Amino acid sequence: MTPPITGFPAISIVDDGTASAAAANSAVATAPSGRGGHAKVVIVGSGPAGLTAAIYAARANLEPIVLAGYVPGGQLMITSDVENYPGFIDGVQGPELMDMFRKQAERFGARIMDVDVDKVDFSARPFRLWADGDAYTADSVIVATGASALWLGLDNETRLRGRGVSACATCDGFFFRGKKVAVVGGGDTALEEATFLTRFATEVVMLHRRDQFRGSKIMQARALANPKISVRWNREVIDVLGEEVVSGVRLRDTETGQEVVETTDGLFLAIGYRPNTEVFRDWLEVDEKGYLKVHDETLSKIDGVFVAGDVHDHRYRQAVTAAADGCKAAIDAERWLEAQGSSEPVAGAVAVATS
Ligand code: NDP
Repeated sequence: MTPPITGFPAISIVDDGTASAAAANSAVATAPSGRGGHAKVVIVGSGPAGLTAAIYAARANLEPIVLAGYVPGGQLMITSDVENYPGFIDGVQGPELMDMFRKQAERFGARIMDVDVDKVDFSARPFRLWADGDAYTADSVIVATGASALWLGLDNETRLRGRGVSACATCDGFFFRGKKVAVVGGGDTALEEATFLTRFATEVVMLHRRDQFRGSKIMQARALANPKISVRWNREVIDVLGEEVVSGVRLRDTETGQEVVETTDGLFLAIGYRPNTEVFRDWLEVDEKGYLKVHDETLSKIDGVFVAGDVHDHRYRQAVTAAADGCKAAIDAERWLEAQGSSEPVAGAVAVATS
């Protein structure tokens, strides 16, 4: 069990998301449940970015609290073999890797709660966060909530994830050497992934629901010029076939309604990502796609609030880049806290909410 963190200022527990003025600048106590409380660093998210931040922050004696989410571990929890994370000669299972990250963070004293943050208030320090009815205060916050791949929402797509269904060609393309794969989507990600997959697969079929791509002209030209890539226009995937592994997809022609089966060994979804930024949007800047904006590597527009991983990075989206980002955010938070000299409450220390 994780040792309890001591030394937090014991004030009232704010439990309903409507903190009183008296509590506004106060740290809160740990509830009898062991939840809630104050930390020098609260980390939101428990993928590679969040847990690496936790390891670094814990080793810097910052005694971080990690609000890990109801489904902790991030995208790697739905990945099977991870063969590109350095240090694992024979690869590692995604969930196993995240379990190791977590235990490593806990070993140094990180307190990890499997709860979703449903509200934050960054208007003054200490910052305030609420999760599952408990209140937390923090001298600094690291946001590492990641981005979720979008899925079609088909039952068999879920059942066969990691057994032929994937949302990451970089991660899983290697497993389809000498095989046929299908890619769903018509944006730059789909075009890029289809092109990437031709390094391994003998045949790549793009399945797009319309009769023209959304992606950039140059990426279209590159994909369409590749002899291994063919396109099925106006096709939506209505089922994924296969018992143990994917064997095909059932397609419906969006114009005629006609259904056909396309055989394939793999199905790559490339229909976009949704950054998990909803609770932060009133406080932090987001770009047009909803990703958090950063400057100077991990800094947000609010002093003391740092950002790490896929929640801002839609370019690399790799476990190792997210982990590196978490490391940077923890170091930046540590140095920032050091520069503050103390964790005295600072009212009105931050920019006004944007909404
Ligand atoms: P996009 O939103 O651009 O494209 C998503 C694609 O998926 C669209 O073609 C869309 O179809 C299709 N789609 C969405 N939902 C469904 C569904 N339920 N069923 C079937 N098809 C669906 O996302 P991307 O991830 O491709 O790109 C995101 C951003 O990242 C873009 O700005 C892109 O330019 C950028 N990017 C840049 C790259 C680069 O420059 N190297 C590489 C990758 C991404 P429809 O067209 O009909 O809406």
